[in-house]
Amino acid sequence: MTTLNDFSRCVAQYDPHALPVSAAQAIVRQWATPVAAVERVALRDALDRVLAADIVSPIDVPSHDNSAMDGYAFPRAALEHGTTSASGTTEIELTIAGKALAGHPFTGRVDTTQCVRVMTGACMPADCDTVVPQELVQRHADSTSIRFSAHAVAPGQNRRLAGEDLARGHVALRAGRIMRASDLGLLASLGIGEVHVRRRLRVAFFSTGDELRSLGEPLDPGSVYDSNRYTLFAMLRRLNVDALDLGVVRDEPVALEAALRTAAASADVVLTSGGVSVGEADFTKQLLQTFGDVAFWSLAMRPGRPLAFGRVWSGEHPGLGLPALFFGLPGNPVAVMVTFYQIVREALLLMSGATPQPVPLVRATSRQPIRKRAGRTEFQRGVATQNESGEWQVTPTGSQSSGVLSSMSEANCFIVLGHDEGEIDAGQQVVIMPFDGLI
Ligand code: AMP
Ligand code: MG
Repeated sequence: MTTLNDFSRCVAQYDPHALPVSAAQAIVRQWATPVAAVERVALRDALDRVLAADIVSPIDVPSHDNSAMDGYAFPRAALEHGTTSASGTTEIELTIAGKALAGHPFTGRVDTTQCVRVMTGACMPADCDTVVPQELVQRHADSTSIRFSAHAVAPGQNRRLAGEDLARGHVALRAGRIMRASDLGLLASLGIGEVHVRRRLRVAFFSTGDELRSLGEPLDPGSVYDSNRYTLFAMLRRLNVDALDLGVVRDEPVALEAALRTAAASADVVLTSGGVSVGEADFTKQLLQTFGDVAFWSLAMRPGRPLAFGRVWSGEHPGLGLPALFFGLPGNPVAVMVTFYQIVREALLLMSGATPQPVPLVRATSRQPIRKRAGRTEFQRGVATQNESGEWQVTPTGSQSSGVLSSMSEANCFIVLGHDEGEIDAGQQVVIMPFDGLI
């Protein structure tokens, strides 16, 4: 068996104690295999699901050339038969041969002295290829003819061509797409009412720590409410995976091993928080070394230095039973969110079968000096605003401690300080990652 551990050793800059973020992302990406199972769902149920196969358009959309304006359709050759007035402008005069509304085509023929009254979306009448908008014409008192300046319209103007939205036989949507509102509408415009999507990824998660209390329990001295399960639940919900909450597990090797094996038996991915540091009660890491396969357990990253990544199995030994990818997130609430967004999120998207889109990064001016040490990537919490000229400026939130969850609530972006970057001066440019780009 190729182990993650063997594989990871071959990655450039491999250091299991302080792996650069980019190297960690590369290792994780390599092991994030998409779920194979596919299911067929009704169009409405396809929202936020991952398309499993390319959709090839079975028809042209629109199916016919049609008018883009309310106006009059005519053959372009009519523009050559104008009369030039004393002032030098060329006027076109056409008689109205009939009308076409959306859903009610004109079935007759016209010559270059005629036009057809058309409404937006009406099929272009045979012989006609140009539409003059109604605001630009003068209508004869008895409504039998119109006049307009030859400059009012160019040949072929105001006509939508058949297939200009989607052409028959072309790929309309690619496999790997996370279906959005526009995609549902687009498929409906093709007459497609059901699509194949990947089955939802199953992610089991639990918290570890003897100090943790669940909501509803009294908070005795030294204990804290378990918040990580709620942030994890919410972040997983946004990714539209099947999230399986396995509760709080005590800092006991036997209980932890049982929880990990149960989680591996029921999910594709197991996420835990806490217990991956080097403290006396940090058993997750020790356990993983005996019955899992660990790629790395510490990143050159802040917050989020202790982060274990590997595989676990439902059986008694590595390789026995059902496998699951494993992320042992730090316990600190901010570190959980940062590592989830920077390391776990992309893996879950890939495993869901999605083609992850790059998260938008924006340049901003730091309004304050920022302390930063070269040799690790930092994701500080910031509040970004735009000045009157539309330029982005960013201020770090007060406390950057990884335990202060209110800094995440207050912030609207991460200030991404690269691995090699050092101290930042006030007025210096930095890169920010707006939270709105992270689903
Ligand atoms: P650990 O990584 O287990 O040493 O935890 C680091 C810090 O995060 C400790 O202060 C823990 O109390 C806190 N912590 C761990 N898990 C949670 C959780 N689920 N909710 C809130 N705080 C937590
Ligand atoms: Mg702990």
